[in-house]
Amino acid sequence: MSEMLKKYGEVVGFHAMDSLMVIADMLRGKKIVHVNSTKEGGGVAEILSSMVPLSKELGLDVSWEVIEGNPDFFACTKTLHNSLQGMPGGLPEQQIEAYVETNRTNAEKLRGALEDADYVFIHDPQPAPLLGYFPNRKGKWVWRCHIDVSAPNRSVWRFVKKHVEGYDASIFSLPDFAQTLPHPQFLITPSIDPLSEKNIALPKSEVAKTYEELGIPMDKPVILQVSRFDRFKDPLGVIESYRIAREHVDIRLVLAGGGATDDPESGEVLARVQEAAAGDPDIHVLLLPADAHRTINALQSGAAVVMQKSTKEGFGLTVTEGLWKKKPVIGGDVGGIRLQIINRFNGFRVRSPEGAAIRIRYLLTHKWKRERMGVNARQYVLENFLLTGQLRRYMSLLISLNSPNGEWERWI
Ligand code: UDP
Repeated sequence: MSEMLKKYGEVVGFHAMDSLMVIADMLRGKKIVHVNSTKEGGGVAEILSSMVPLSKELGLDVSWEVIEGNPDFFACTKTLHNSLQGMPGGLPEQQIEAYVETNRTNAEKLRGALEDADYVFIHDPQPAPLLGYFPNRKGKWVWRCHIDVSAPNRSVWRFVKKHVEGYDASIFSLPDFAQTLPHPQFLITPSIDPLSEKNIALPKSEVAKTYEELGIPMDKPVILQVSRFDRFKDPLGVIESYRIAREHVDIRLVLAGGGATDDPESGEVLARVQEAAAGDPDIHVLLLPADAHRTINALQSGAAVVMQKSTKEGFGLTVTEGLWKKKPVIGGDVGGIRLQIINRFNGFRVRSPEGAAIRIRYLLTHKWKRERMGVNARQYVLENFLLTGQLRRYMSLLISLNSPNGEWERWI
């Protein structure tokens, strides 16, 4: 076993690594390609940047391609994303054209990589139409949907469905997201990488130094939300929760985020957050570079409570990251957050700023309970949401696509 695999084994157990290696052997020599729309920012890039190296270490022939687009394309895919998460309205004609045209040009660029691949994972709606440009594809293509499609805008879903129904299978993060599609649908939760810069244990001194460098005094408990500046992450709701809570407990609020390169709306949301935070020295709004993984790790490690007050959420890796650092997490009662937070066990699910404020106050005034929930939190992630488990399920799924007797389905 290589050094890297041993390190994973030390966290997840060597039995888990043995099963990974057995399954990887069955895919040896097969060409696997992942395609998404950004190299950095957001959960998909976060997962792929760990999953691809681990897959290679297991001997798999795997690569990661990123489609390129112009502002009209990303305006379209942002509208798609918002609409699939329930925003009313339709898609402007000009954006539809950019969406289709961008996928057509990317298909030509990626023909060499995708035409003869044995397995292709297409992540999210942005590159979904690629399939239509590969009538002679050799392999099985899987559409991996990471977003919260529990109540999509129906007309936009019908449009996306046309592009995804030709896939051999699709993957959603939880049962609520499953759709009517003419192919098998799998439920696989995302995961975090325990060995990444974002999730390794940091010395206390480094945590303190990071806070100091960012100009955040550690004189009072920190409430932290890390997320892209996106309306569905509800950063304004977090500020409101903080304002209600601080009538009772003395706290700081840190909102840390950056924009994904495929997100054209983040500037506008950030401006509204800065406006709402203006004049309050205890609110720190941080705009971080895309590679600030260790900084985010330190922020999460030094926080008293982590929040993710989303109003829609595909999964919410920031919740997983907070739990892994032994923090109880207060999260919106939506999407993938429901899978991760169990009320009173490892955090609280909330539906309003008032609800969040009550939970902030509770956690800050019950230190023993907070610490106990933090211990539960880490164990829960260890058992359910680590990279090795997700990769095992992905590999098993691929094998099951070529073994119709279902022998491998029990591994998923
Ligand atoms: N993230 C980051 N920098 C930021 C904001 C977020 O590195 O400024 C990371 C965050 O730590 C997490 C991922 O991006 O790993 C966000 O994934 P999540 O599932 O929470 O949300 P998404 O952005 O995919 O909707």
